[in-house]
Amino acid sequence: MPKYQAPRGTRDLLPAEMRTWHDLEALGRELAGLYGYQPIETPLFEDAAVFERAIGTATDVVEKELFRVSSPGGDADRWALRPEATAGVARAYVQHGMQTLPQPVRFSTFGTMFRYDRPQAGRYRQFWQWNVEAIGDTGPAVDAEIIELGLRFLRRAGVSEVEVHLNSIGDGACRPAYVAALVEYLRRFEGTLPELERSRLATNPLRVLDSKDSRMAPILASAPVITDFLCDACREHYQSLQAHLERLEIVPRQAPHLVRGLDYYTRTTFEYFRPGHEGQQSALGGGGRYDGLLELLGAKPTPGIGLALGIDRIAGALGDRNGAAAAAAATRPVAVVVGADPTGTDLRLRMATDLRAAGVAAGADLAQRKLARQLENAARDGAHFAVVIGDELTAGQVQLRDLQAGTQRLVNVAELARELLRAHAGHRHGES
Ligand code: AMP
Repeated sequence: MPKYQAPRGTRDLLPAEMRTWHDLEALGRELAGLYGYQPIETPLFEDAAVFERAIGTATDVVEKELFRVSSPGGDADRWALRPEATAGVARAYVQHGMQTLPQPVRFSTFGTMFRYDRPQAGRYRQFWQWNVEAIGDTGPAVDAEIIELGLRFLRRAGVSEVEVHLNSIGDGACRPAYVAALVEYLRRFEGTLPELERSRLATNPLRVLDSKDSRMAPILASAPVITDFLCDACREHYQSLQAHLERLEIVPRQAPHLVRGLDYYTRTTFEYFRPGHEGQQSALGGGGRYDGLLELLGAKPTPGIGLALGIDRIAGALGDRNGAAAAAAATRPVAVVVGADPTGTDLRLRMATDLRAAGVAAGADLAQRKLARQLENAARDGAHFAVVIGDELTAGQVQLRDLQAGTQRLVNVAELARELLRAHAGHRHGES
């Protein structure tokens, strides 16, 4: 085994897999454009306080998983790699005074997140997400827009059968009564609660609903549900959201224990699953409303809602469908420049460079080997044409050999690029 490996919890995305990544990123860009979500990029690291304030210190994401970065110069622990996109986007919204823009402001971003969690299947320390956020709209129509957008992404990506799990976790007006009822219920089991859940009961009781411990399942099955405690405003919001979803022909599954791991959520929370794959590490994405978040970051009260889809998990669900063959096809050259003189690498490189400058995907055999070997390699690389440099070059011509048709003809170098593009396009047209 080589001495140096990718760090635990990370992995290399090799060329075959990059094809899927690029496709999913392009899909995100296309849908963001269609739905009017503008691109934004925020730094991969922020003041740790941005996450501590926004996400909450009594959450797994901050308490256990925040990837803190110590920098030279004594700023130990000041910075942290972003564990999710919303806090950074919200920070940018406040910093750049976007409250003065027409609301809501819709954003989308694609990139890596970092969580220093225990690595396991479907849970990496560096992973990719596609995110959208709509800041400055109380919903519930925009909630439905975002839920539908996530579903569309998953369907267009090729994930068959996706289910939306939906819940409302109320707001500051009604959640306290629910939390009190939950605490009272859980206290009855205090003696049997796993240690982690007992400490959550003390610091952040809602998080117990998020428990990954199988011993909790029977206890939670009969726990009170938040939807029974919603105040009128939250209940109305939730009912109206469901009416909007119905209008979009989306039938969500009610998930009364879906509180999600982050503190800042209010009202709407949702996650996407493939039926039969509903385990802890199986959510393909999720999101929710965060009406309290912007204020925590120093803005006037501003509502918002966002969505994050897990690209690694979506790629996993798609399997190797795009695979190595498709990746190789994408980089297959139209032409490879070869030559009768094995040592004429300068001529071959120059001609390939000119072809590339003219927009032709071209290779050149830069090893000093015989013409027959150069042609063999061009065919192995899947090139459509070989451009053969020989004596005709003194008359400004080269042989253009169609490796697929087995034909050959003389072409003027001045017309070579145009001729290649024309012949290759015609060939591809004939294929489809
Ligand atoms: P979350 O904000 O934790 O709900 O994350 C949104 C989505 O990102 C999840 O539904 C997963 O698909 C994905 N995700 C979250 N954490 C990880 C991780 N550690 N590794 C891979 N994907 C993740």
